[in-house]
Amino acid sequence: MDADLVARIRAMPKVELHIHLEGTVGPGTFLRLCERHGLRPPAETEEALREQYRFRSFEDFIPLYLAIQDSMRTAEDFALVVYELGADRAAQHIVYSEVTVTPYTHIWQHKGIAPEEIIEGLEEGRRRVREDFGVELRWILDIPRSLPEPATAWTTDWAIAWRDRGVVALGLGGSERKGPAPRFGPAFERARAAGLHSVPHAGETAGPESVWAAIHALAAERIGHGVRAIEDPLLLAYLREHRIPLEINPTSNVLLGLYPSLEQHPFPRLWDMGLVLTVNSDDPALFDTTLTDEYIRLVSTFGYTWEDVVRWVRNAADAAFLSPEERAQILAEILELG
Ligand SMILES: [Zn+2]
Repeated sequence: MDADLVARIRAMPKVELHIHLEGTVGPGTFLRLCERHGLRPPAETEEALREQYRFRSFEDFIPLYLAIQDSMRTAEDFALVVYELGADRAAQHIVYSEVTVTPYTHIWQHKGIAPEEIIEGLEEGRRRVREDFGVELRWILDIPRSLPEPATAWTTDWAIAWRDRGVVALGLGGSERKGPAPRFGPAFERARAAGLHSVPHAGETAGPESVWAAIHALAAERIGHGVRAIEDPLLLAYLREHRIPLEINPTSNVLLGLYPSLEQHPFPRLWDMGLVLTVNSDDPALFDTTLTDEYIRLVSTFGYTWEDVVRWVRNAADAAFLSPEERAQILAEILELG
């Protein structure tokens, strides 16, 4: 692959819309958090832990994810994780990110933390990231769709309460089969009435019917993943006509077994059909990837050009929940390079 193109991708200002905070915690930080709370990590050294991080299957992924989650127990822990995420954003020139946080799972798993502590930690981290690195973060509060109630009402209440503390949208994650979208219609309606945006995951662990439900029952403004729309021509036409952006996470889809390899990922078909696609990293620490790597992999696998890459970043800036002034500023930075 053209070394000059790789260098340009690394240096360009970028925007990321689909990344889970808990999935950004690397082995070093995880060990630090375990030490802080006297927890026994799954491996004693960073090296050995790195081995555990090497993704093998979904069954291995969940316990590690839960262990990371359980190690985040205080406002300081959240602030630390956010600060490290900010440092990573700066290194990758990701000027703006919408970061998904699933606070209910922390409460559910570790009863000791209060909701106020979570948002205080997030906001302290966000403030320091802005000051030290000049990068901007916003939050998407995610309902874990397969956890028992009161997960839904609880998450919706806090998302609305924290609107002026960086929360821009209500999300919906977890097993699409165990938690079909229509069940969450009233919660999303309440969030939208309060001025929040709607960004459910759909069309990842279930097929096109799940994407239709996210559109009809939740008024989804973007679809987290949505790749399985490829199985329904009518849905593809609808997504294109209504310009509903898809948040594509190529490496995540391959590692979680949706597609056997990147070569067989529907990205090129969706792109050629004129859908609004954005590129994202989902859980970069757990999938051993970065947003920059995702761009480079797509370019090297499918032969995309610099113009395509600029369009992906522009799509993300256009689909972001920014004020018109913020969007104009980010687009100007991107276009300066184009
Ligand atoms: Zn996700």
